[in-house]
This record gives sequence, C-alpha cells and structure tokens, in this order.
Amino acid sequence: MDTTGNATRKTSELIRRFAPYFKKYKWVLVLDLFCASLTTVCELVLPLIVRFITGKGMEDMASLTVQVILSVGALYLVLRIIDTVANYYMASVGHVMGARIETDMRRDLFGHLQRLSYNYYDHTKIGQIMARITSDLFDVTEFAHHCPEEFFIAGLKIAVSFAILGSIYMPLTLIIFAVLPLMLLAAMFFNKRMRRAFKRSRNQIGELNAQVEDSLLGVRVVKSFTNEELEKEKFREGNQGFLNIKKQMYRYMALFQSSTRLFDGLMYITVVVAGALFMIYGKITAADFMAYLLYVTTLLTSIRRIVEFTEQFQRGMTGIERFLEIMDAPVDIEDKPGARALGQVKGAIAFDHVSFHYVGEEEMVLKDIVLQVSPGENVALVGPSGGGKTTLCNLIPRFYDVTGGRVLIDGQDVRDVTLQSLRAQIGVVQQEVYLFAGSVYDNIAYGRPGASREDVIRAAKQAGAHEFITQLSQGYDTDVGERGVRLSGGQKQRISIARVFLKNPPVLILDEATSALDNESERLVQRSLEELAKGRTTFTIAHRLTTIRNATLILVLTEDGIAERGTHEELMARQGLYFELYSMYTEKERQGEAHF
Ligand code: ADP
Ligand code: MG
Repeated sequence: MDTTGNATRKTSELIRRFAPYFKKYKWVLVLDLFCASLTTVCELVLPLIVRFITGKGMEDMASLTVQVILSVGALYLVLRIIDTVANYYMASVGHVMGARIETDMRRDLFGHLQRLSYNYYDHTKIGQIMARITSDLFDVTEFAHHCPEEFFIAGLKIAVSFAILGSIYMPLTLIIFAVLPLMLLAAMFFNKRMRRAFKRSRNQIGELNAQVEDSLLGVRVVKSFTNEELEKEKFREGNQGFLNIKKQMYRYMALFQSSTRLFDGLMYITVVVAGALFMIYGKITAADFMAYLLYVTTLLTSIRRIVEFTEQFQRGMTGIERFLEIMDAPVDIEDKPGARALGQVKGAIAFDHVSFHYVGEEEMVLKDIVLQVSPGENVALVGPSGGGKTTLCNLIPRFYDVTGGRVLIDGQDVRDVTLQSLRAQIGVVQQEVYLFAGSVYDNIAYGRPGASREDVIRAAKQAGAHEFITQLSQGYDTDVGERGVRLSGGQKQRISIARVFLKNPPVLILDEATSALDNESERLVQRSLEELAKGRTTFTIAHRLTTIRNATLILVLTEDGIAERGTHEELMARQGLYFELYSMYTEKERQGEAHF
C-alpha cells in the first residue's frame, strides 16, 4: 500500500517485469538492433582503413595508387550512407517504439488505478500518482529505446575492439584489460547510490505535486484565511527538500563521471606509453600503433557511453520501479472468479451480522449489524456524527468489503456478483458533488453513457434542474468549470440527481445530500430527492430530521451499533435516543426560525 517506500528493488526483477512490454514491438526492436550493428560495423572499419593505407604506404609507396585511395574512399562513403540510414531508423522508429511502450505502460497504470478501491485512495496522495503517470514514465521512453541499443552497440564495440586489439598485439591488450575491472567496480559502487538518490528525488517530486495540488484545490480556503504566507512556507520546505536531494544526486553523478574520466586517462596513458615502448623495441609497427590508438579510442568512447548511459538507465529503472509500486498495489475489491451478473433486482437489502473496520484501524466501526429492508422501503439513518452511517451505506455497492458477516441484495451476497452489475443497481447522491470538466449535458449523461438527448433532458426535468439549466448562458452546453465551480451548490446537486435519474437504479443511497445547501436550494433539492426516491429502496442519511418522518424504517446508529429502530411514531413513543435527538432538533429549528 505504501507508495512512497524507499526500498529499492533488484535490477533483475525490474528488467524481468519490464521486458514483456517489448513483446509487441519485437520486430521493431530486432531491426533497431540490426541497424545498431550496422552503424557499429561502419564505425569500426575506419581505423582498419587508416591502418591499411598507412601500412601500405610504409611498405611500398608505389603500391598506394590513386585508384586504391579512391576505391577505399568510395567504400567508406558507401558505409557512411548505410550508417546514416541506419541511424535515422534508430532515431525515429526506435524512439517511437520507446514512446509506444511508454503509452502502453501509462494505459496499464491508468487501468489499474481505475480498478483500485476506495481503500487504496484513502491511503494514497493523488500528487504522487500524478508524478508517476507523467514524469516518471517520460524517463521510461528514453530508457526503453536506448537501453537495448546502447548496451548492444557498446557491447559489440567493446568485444570487436578487443578482438582487433588482441589480433594487433596481445600483450598491450592484456594490460588494458587489467584496468577494466577497476572501472566496473567504481560503476557498481556509484550506481546503487545514484539509484537511491533518483528514487528519493522522484518521491520528493511526488510529494511536491501532492502539496501543490492540496494547496491549489484548497485555494479558496487559503484565501479566506489569508494563509498565503503559510502555504508559501509549507511549499518552501518541500521545495528546499527537493533541492537538497538533487544536490546529493548531482554529487554522486559528478563523482561517478569524474572517476570514470580518471580511469579513461589512465587507460590512455598506459596505451600511449606502453605502445610507444613496444614500438621502439620493434614489437609493433607505427601503422599498428596508430590503428591501436584509434581502436582504444573507440573502446573508450563505448565504455564512456555505457557509463553515461548508466545515469539514464538508473532513471529508467526508478521510473519502472515507481510504476510497479502502483501496478503491484493489490486490487482488494474485484469480481471473484465465476462471479455472476446480477439481473434487474427488486431492491431487497439485508445486513447479516455485518461488522466492519477500516484497513489499518483497530476499532470496529460497525458491529453485528442485522437489518432486513424490503424492496421500495425508505430507510433513514440517524445518529451522532461518526456513528458509521456513511460506512454502512458504502458496504452496499461494495466500496468497501465487510470485515465479517454478509451484505445481501435480493438474497445474493454482494461479493458473489459482478461489480458492474451490482453498482448498476445502486445510485448514490452525496453531500459533496463531483462534476467533471465539460458541459452540464455531459455531466448528466455521465449517469448513463450513450443516453439520448431526450432522456438526458427528461432526467433533468425530473430532478428539477431543467429550468435553471435552460437559463444558463449556453443552456445544456454550458461549461461547468473545474469541478463545477461555475455553478451554485444547489445547481450542482440537482445535476448530480439528474445523473441518478438517468441511471434509474432500484436502490438509492442519499448521504446528507442537502446538508451543504441553503434553505431555498435545499427545498428544491429535497423535492427532487423525494421524486427520485419514489418506488426505489432508499437509504437516506439526513441531517434534517423533519425530512425523514415518513421513512418506513428509522435506524439510530451509534458507535455501539443500531441503538433503536422503528417508525417515527414508534420511536417517539419510546422516548429514547431518537426522541431526544428529535426534540433537540426541533427546538433548534424553532429557535433558528425565530431568528430568521
Ligand atoms: P457518519 O457517516 O455516521 O458520520 P462515518 O461512517 O463517516 O460516520 O465514520 C464512522 C467512523 O469511521 C468514524 O470514526 C470515522 O472517523 C471512521 N472513518 C470514516 N471513513 C474512514 C476511512 N476512510 N478510513 C478510516 N476511518 C474512517
Ligand atoms: Mg457520513
């Protein structure tokens, strides 16, 4: 569950998990590697040509005719043309392959995010997810394309250079070979540290994202408390933290690069001095020495490229690791194997000795709830805040799964049926309305994608929303603004009710749907809700007790379970908790009205 963990996974595991993404692009990859080998061959031929010409010239200048020189030049030109074409392929198609892989991964990530349940989002910051789905995966494109190619080219060049160097003069080659392990050790030492630093910096970026998001979503609260300075201070900390991590990261990178530079120099000087010595003692010719130097250059550039690439490699690995952290988050609520689709239900809901606690919390929110609700019944839930009303309702559409007992819909355990078919039967209206970016029309149509325009308008009329919608500047096509900021609370709520009308489910959950509204809007929305509730099994969590007097069953839910149950008259006659709540409430209402 922890998506900000610092544990680093093994590179082999990351590669193994990443490799399947190449499967679709197998042939592109093969061709890419083929082009990579072509460019390598072209590059490796140059020293051979130089050696050939100088060697021939020294042997016998007369044999070095214009014709020989020109044909060697022509050969080289052809090779360079092949090299150019191959390079073009690698740069374009290879990169596009990387981008496609990135797209595939992003698709999978988003798909997985859609499957994850409330529980996951209760414990995860959206900003952290955003960082993963955008910037982390950018690093993967470069990596996906360059990783096989770079390793292949460099590996090939190193192997061929060594073979040629060996064939020119073995003893010198063995000396070079001895320096190589030192370089590898240094690389291994710094790689681990760089990776950790990359990971920390990525996590910090995620945190920063989360912070910005939090602050911007709450911008209206920030302004009302004039807490801009406080927000800036909070942000400064996170931002500074990021700088510190980056400093460390760059220090490792710099150390790593400098140390490889040092080895590089060491290798060169060894070759030059030892080679020159071998030359003056007549072990190798000047032409050999020259070719030798050129190949050592190729060898060193390849090694340097691998070294430079390790940085990109580690970035890619970090991206993949963070990708996997989400992909590996378990989907705790999903269809069990062989789950049946639930047909059109009548709407009987039962709680069979249900208990529940949230993941990571010790305390039971619901204990041994037993409840039978017949189709079309109107159940009202009342009780102190935090008593578990919302929690109880959330178990019906399986937003959370029970800890013990069963929740039944028309006699079937909700865990035995498909989520799709279950949730299609249940409409939820909450206090906080979420409208998506887009028009009023789109937001209502969200209740049943593909609905006809007539149906959408009918739903709006049923919800009592048609009138105000037609008065908006562009009617149904009016843009609602981000999260519906351009509409009033009552308007947003009526749009959300229209959505549920359009969905037309047999079971309804109304969770304090009117509590955020002013009196006038509340009256309008209340009327829409009563219209909506007709003929459906309804669970109403009401903050205004007067609105639930007609409920067929009232439950008083406290931390200890269902304290009382019955109709309004029965509960009033009992003179218990409900009586108390109701008296207190009506008293407050009266005073409120008096003030009004
Ligand atoms: P009500 O709707 O009756 O006000 P809730 O069902 O929202 O009460 O909450 C019941 C209890 O569960 C409260 O103590 C609350 O703090 C806790 N709770 C609610 N949602 C979560 C959650 N997502 N994770 C952990 N605890 C929660
Ligand atoms: Mg609640």
